[in-house]
Amino acid sequence: MPALALAFDVGGTSVRGAVVGAADVVLAESRVATRIGPAVLDDIARMGEGLLAGLSPAARAEVAAVGVAFPGLVDTEAGISRRAVNLGLVDTLVAAPLAEHLGLPVTVAHDTAAAAGAIWEDAGSPASAFVAVLGTGVAAVTYVGGRAILGVSGQAGEIGHLVVDPAGPRCGCGLRGCVEAYAGARAMLERYASRGGDTRVSGVAELVARAEYDRLAAEVWSEAITALADGFLAVGALLAPGEIILGGGVAEARRALLDPLQARMRERAGVTAVPPVRLSTLGGRAGLIGAARLALAAVRTNP
Ligand SMILES: [Zn+2]
Repeated sequence: MPALALAFDVGGTSVRGAVVGAADVVLAESRVATRIGPAVLDDIARMGEGLLAGLSPAARAEVAAVGVAFPGLVDTEAGISRRAVNLGLVDTLVAAPLAEHLGLPVTVAHDTAAAAGAIWEDAGSPASAFVAVLGTGVAAVTYVGGRAILGVSGQAGEIGHLVVDPAGPRCGCGLRGCVEAYAGARAMLERYASRGGDTRVSGVAELVARAEYDRLAAEVWSEAITALADGFLAVGALLAPGEIILGGGVAEARRALLDPLQARMRERAGVTAVPPVRLSTLGGRAGLIGAARLALAAVRTNP
């Protein structure tokens, strides 16, 4: 039984890599800022080499597979990035060059699917749930009858681009007032900086901590929570899921997110039933854990 996987979570801001073992134990972890274009693939290969080189020979021998959680449109069968706007990639081979470089089988997964799958399994695989991954992007997977509902395009669950205010801020997708334009990690930091916030603030955790005493940080965080509340109420109205489960880096704010979010949803619910909301324990590692699980599952079924 293969024991260890090398996992990568490729985001618009950073590329994370880790060696993940049984019970999702992370043995080694690494992170670099994302470079746009094909250079990102060189960075993944180099990070993989570095992580493997840091293992003991015995542990190195246990690494059986590589899992890559990749953003945008992914052909998981062929291991190709069809389109990753934030990375500047179109029809780019991901699995084949990495497999050759590292000498291991590579599984490429869509980042939201990998993260949401891990969060959902971690939550006990509930029959009905809406699993939202909150990071630079905001996306989700809906589970009904214990199955992921991906839609005919495979892209169902793009709650990040649900418009909650048509006169709102411009989103990366070109529309105005999307959930992500308020609640995406990068959007929050940009909104804070553009209003004259402290330029040293570089992460959402810092922004949330500052919200205790910094009026601008509190405003930006509160507006993000309102956008998420309205987005989740729309989900509640359409799908009435058994629960909403939150993971991803922004969900690492824990109660500073959950408490005001639940209150805001109750305030703004109207006649819509408010679904219960809970936090995943996986936080920002969900993509890595999900990629590792998918990679190990692939070598088990196809050794
Ligand atoms: Zn958008």
